[in-house]
Amino acid sequence: MFRHFTRTYATYKRFNNTTKSVNYYNLLHSRKTLYVGGGLIGFYIYNLHEAPYTHRRRFIWVPFWLGEKIGDYTYKQIMYQYGSQILPHSNPLYSKVSNVMNKLLQVSLNSEETHQKQFLKNLNWEINIINNDSLPPNAFILPNGKIFIFSSILRICQNDDGLATVLSHELSHQLAQHSNEQLSSQPIYMALSTILYTLTGVSWFNDLLINGVLTMPASREMESEADHIGCEILARACFDPKQSIYFWQRMNQAEKRLGGEANARLEWFSSHPATSRRIADIESWMPKLEQIKADSNCHSFYQFDEFHRNFFKRT
Ligand SMILES: [Zn+2]
Repeated sequence: MFRHFTRTYATYKRFNNTTKSVNYYNLLHSRKTLYVGGGLIGFYIYNLHEAPYTHRRRFIWVPFWLGEKIGDYTYKQIMYQYGSQILPHSNPLYSKVSNVMNKLLQVSLNSEETHQKQFLKNLNWEINIINNDSLPPNAFILPNGKIFIFSSILRICQNDDGLATVLSHELSHQLAQHSNEQLSSQPIYMALSTILYTLTGVSWFNDLLINGVLTMPASREMESEADHIGCEILARACFDPKQSIYFWQRMNQAEKRLGGEANARLEWFSSHPATSRRIADIESWMPKLEQIKADSNCHSFYQFDEFHRNFFKRT
């Protein structure tokens, strides 16, 4: 439409267009862009935190308090759904689970490796056993310290060491801030997805690409890290690390038994490495785990400074 304007105006527009492209070029090389780019890199570097025990460096900008708030919100939703199926604290299973969990908390929250110990110690820790054997075997800990364990996984645990395997794995997700790590990556994935969509015009392919290349491997890495940290904690807490292998073998059997259609419902497995891989990893860590247990002075375990603190005393 600018063709209809006078030559003078067209010349002005052309000049203006040139200015615009120069501006665009300038934008990429302007101080402002440098400041924003530098700021983003600075923000990224400032928010690189080491995971406990494994010392893996990862980007986490979501603070503990925000994770805790999200945990509070999720807690309400879960209680709304399963609140009526939670075992009373008078049930012997409750004391069994809380005894094991208490040992794991004592050891991990007194460890030099654990970050933000005061925050974790101040959390209102709570155990909820969901009594419903028809649910898939599952357990999880919310970032606000609320622990959920399904009765269906307790059958597979069989003993305190098996229980310690599950609980230490879930506690490790919490100690390593895996949920905050996942939340921290979400804006990056969304930005990447938008950029890819602008370039390709296809959304399903981007989702598949981002999921396959970034989300799932990151999730499997966190799973493996939780196994690693969990096994170290349970060995320090004087549980038998060899029993972790037996637990995963039983889990493998349960996985096969539940099979096909049920497998899709097994949330605990969805982003997890293959169970046989877990077993092989734990077997490869065994000499170190046995050494940790031997160094933990297990016969005088009750001499731990804070051992007598009961995280679940509000019962
Ligand atoms: Zn996990």
